[in-house]
Amino acid sequence: SNPLYEGLFAAHQGKQTTFIIDSQNNTEVSYDAFLKQASQYANAITQQGLQPGDRLVAQVGKSVSTLTLYAACVQAGVVYLPLNTAYTLSEVEYFVQDSGAKLIVCAPESEPGMAEIAKQHNAALMTQSNDGLSGSLPDMAQQLATEFSAVERSVDDIASFLYTSGTTGRSKGAMLTQQNLLSNCNVLKEVWEFTEDDVLLHALPIFHIHGLFVAVNVALKSGAKLLLEPSFNLDRVIEKLPEVTTLMGVPTFYTRLLGDERFNRDLTKQMRLFVSGSAPLLSETHVQFEQRTGHRILERYGMTETNMNTSNPYHGERRAGTVGLPLPNVELKITDPVTGETLPTGEIGQIEVRGSNVFKGYWNMPEKTAEELRSNGYFITGDLGMIDGDGYVSIVGRNKDLIISGGYNIYPKEIELILDEQLGVVESAVIGVPHPDFGETVVGVLVANAESVDLEKIQLAVKEKLARFKHPRKLVIIDELPRNTMGKVQKNILREEYKSLFV
Ligand code: ATP
Ligand code: MG
Repeated sequence: SNPLYEGLFAAHQGKQTTFIIDSQNNTEVSYDAFLKQASQYANAITQQGLQPGDRLVAQVGKSVSTLTLYAACVQAGVVYLPLNTAYTLSEVEYFVQDSGAKLIVCAPESEPGMAEIAKQHNAALMTQSNDGLSGSLPDMAQQLATEFSAVERSVDDIASFLYTSGTTGRSKGAMLTQQNLLSNCNVLKEVWEFTEDDVLLHALPIFHIHGLFVAVNVALKSGAKLLLEPSFNLDRVIEKLPEVTTLMGVPTFYTRLLGDERFNRDLTKQMRLFVSGSAPLLSETHVQFEQRTGHRILERYGMTETNMNTSNPYHGERRAGTVGLPLPNVELKITDPVTGETLPTGEIGQIEVRGSNVFKGYWNMPEKTAEELRSNGYFITGDLGMIDGDGYVSIVGRNKDLIISGGYNIYPKEIELILDEQLGVVESAVIGVPHPDFGETVVGVLVANAESVDLEKIQLAVKEKLARFKHPRKLVIIDELPRNTMGKVQKNILREEYKSLFV
């Protein structure tokens, strides 16, 4: 048997109903056609010499064929390793080498440079165009049989190496098993009430946990349709919203929609669900969204290593500024970073999670794995947060962003929330920078929308609300916060930029 293949793919054998509405190529692909194409791809990668357990690196555009390649890997028992399309050749080389990939699939444009890498690391190389229609892989696949007998796999076999976003350092390869993926999409389908009547507007990248294993796997599990957009294009999304029932997005999707007057109650009247994750959603965005559309965004929390951990309820109260409650079968606790003891309700500490969603470990990094994945199964997420009396989890930031000034712990989020409320402030990021007396001190980086933004007034407002040791020693204004493709603020870039302010 091959539980992931059976659960997500074979379950749809023979179905003539639409799986993907491919907006790039203006076509619709039925479940049946998709599965046949996946079998052709499985035949192709097998002919390239890939054996079960081998790694396949894919740095290709977002297309139906890329999803086909994912399906083919599951069917052939090959470990699927998708990469951010923005990575440069030298970055890709690290992943090829680190994973020991046997086959690289890249865009035709990058073939010349990639050929060197492939040769250097003894990998085969194939190409696939951005629309998925041409290149040596689709060309070869088209010639091959539309049947492929799925390779035997168990739930403990690795299905994918998914690399983390690299927000806090070099990306790490999370080894995700069939069980990790299956358990999570089964739970999400249930709690978010996905059915085959759903049409999910898919505008996220598919090299990341959110767009791939949350969005695509939930759609597959439910037999729903995907409206596949190559990327988030505001005009396209506004045009297509009336044709779908659900949207999964990062917070910037929602702020960009709110910035457009066409986005209103009428446009979203048939929508069933808006999900947000990957980065914190400002309470203000949540509130504005409800005022504008009548919908409450459902915020959830997850990461590459654990898939999804918590979600606001589909039925009960969706609380702005929280990531909701632990999902069924996910255990979550808040612990003291020093002793590892569980902390009482309402106290801030490190978030630890355990469950069948939690990964097997980091590829090739046994020490890092041992530091973060406890022998009792709890994973130390690197995020700091708290649980309130009703069980709702709030995230206050990452452990690495914690500021320790003069021996005091300072949580940037507490200061950011106050800065964000101030007149003329669009958003803020609070960081710690080296300081000769205090070790570290607080700097507030602001994005302002008015020239009249008054830094002294803001300092006064902060002083009224927060203890002295938390006051930003300096506020600076910049045009926009540095963000990665998933909309995550890259505080390490800001820390680097301002590291010499006081020393
Ligand atoms: P790296 O681990 O390489 O530094 P990363 O942690 O950003 O990068 P991902 O696995 O893509 O890589 O992201 C997971 C992180 O995203 C979580 O640990 C958390 O910090 C953040 N995150 C996800 N969802 C939310 C959310 N709803 N609110 C706040 N933060 C979130
Ligand atoms: Mg991380």
